[in-house]
Amino acid sequence: MTLHPFTYHRAESLADAARALGTPEAAPLGGGTDLLVAMKESLVRPETLVDLRRVPGAGDITLHPDGSARIGCAVRLATLATHEGIAERYAALAQAAAAVGTPQLRTMGTIGGNLAQRPRCWYFRGGLPCFKNGGSDCLAERGENQYHALFTDGTCHAVHPSDPLVALTALEASVEVTGTAGTRTLELAALFDGAGRNARGETTLATGEFISAVLLPASAAGGDQFYEKLMQRGAWDFATVSLAAHRRVDGGVRIALGGVSLTPYRVNSSVEEDVATGGLDDDSIDALAERAMYDAHPLEHNGYKVWQAQALLRRALRRLDPRA
Ligand SMILES: Cc1cc2nc3c(=O)[nH]c(=O)nc-3n(C[C@H](O)[C@H](O)[C@H](O)COP(=O)(O)OP(=O)(O)OC[C@H]3O[C@@H](n4cnc5c(N)ncnc54)[C@H](O)[C@@H]3O)c2cc1C
Repeated sequence: MTLHPFTYHRAESLADAARALGTPEAAPLGGGTDLLVAMKESLVRPETLVDLRRVPGAGDITLHPDGSARIGCAVRLATLATHEGIAERYAALAQAAAAVGTPQLRTMGTIGGNLAQRPRCWYFRGGLPCFKNGGSDCLAERGENQYHALFTDGTCHAVHPSDPLVALTALEASVEVTGTAGTRTLELAALFDGAGRNARGETTLATGEFISAVLLPASAAGGDQFYEKLMQRGAWDFATVSLAAHRRVDGGVRIALGGVSLTPYRVNSSVEEDVATGGLDDDSIDALAERAMYDAHPLEHNGYKVWQAQALLRRALRRLDPRA
């Protein structure tokens, strides 16, 4: 594994970063924990790496008095995991950041890079001719698919590897996207729209655009929120299935599952509404956990993920019931 020659550009401002990223041959650089590996594996061959870590504000966490927040794209996962204000307001995000890989990865990895990291599917990473590598088929669909998705649009069956993204989905975060035309806000669903069909990445970011910040709405603060992750090994592993849940201060419930699709899977809103109403007994909890997974399409080797998701859901539903 060798690295091809490339140019390093340390961006001095958002506009400078957007300008430097204005060609398809340039890539944003956060901690480099995924990008440099992908380059060594020849999955990507950017000619210029645009380092976002010195952009003013990129490393800042701003907690607004109304409960909303702005997290700069270069904030380290270790910072998110240990920041008192984040833990107090957005416990699910702090727990998800703490659940990422190893201390070394959390120290180097940035939130922007964590959201934009590429899937871990072995067919894709192995350079085989799947959708993501320019082929016409998903090789996992009839292959070794024990870590693959239960919910897909029929194209790619890889899952998104991020823990924080699952928490951010339950907290209904959005991202601030900066490009040569300025800055815009995108909901996570819009950021990952069509993730399976896009071979260059999973996001809808255009050439020259990058995630400049993660934005948390006021409704994301407080309430009861948590993140749980199931792994094959006790540490240094990606989730087989994970769950982030939030009973908001206004009583609304939001639940997202990780490890089951190419973007975190937001549980059906009718399930969330029934949980918010509360008064659930064991039978209704079982029924809701089943209903939440009704649309799952297990492949030959990943049916266990349905059971894992239902187990996480049952536990979460008991905890979230306002009348429990
Ligand atoms: C052994 C191992 C175990 C791991 N376990 C976990 C785990 O349990 N949970 C988990 O969540 N992750 C896990 N990871 C993934 C790791 O968390 C990511 O590699 C890391 O978060 C990426 O962040 P980074 O800043 O290093 O990104 P980089 O490597 O710098 O970038 C990753 C990708 O994002 C792009 N990018 C970077 N910044 C931005 C931006 N601001 N806007 C748009 N695009 C951008 C880059 O161009 C590149 O394509 C693991 C990785 C390894 C190697």
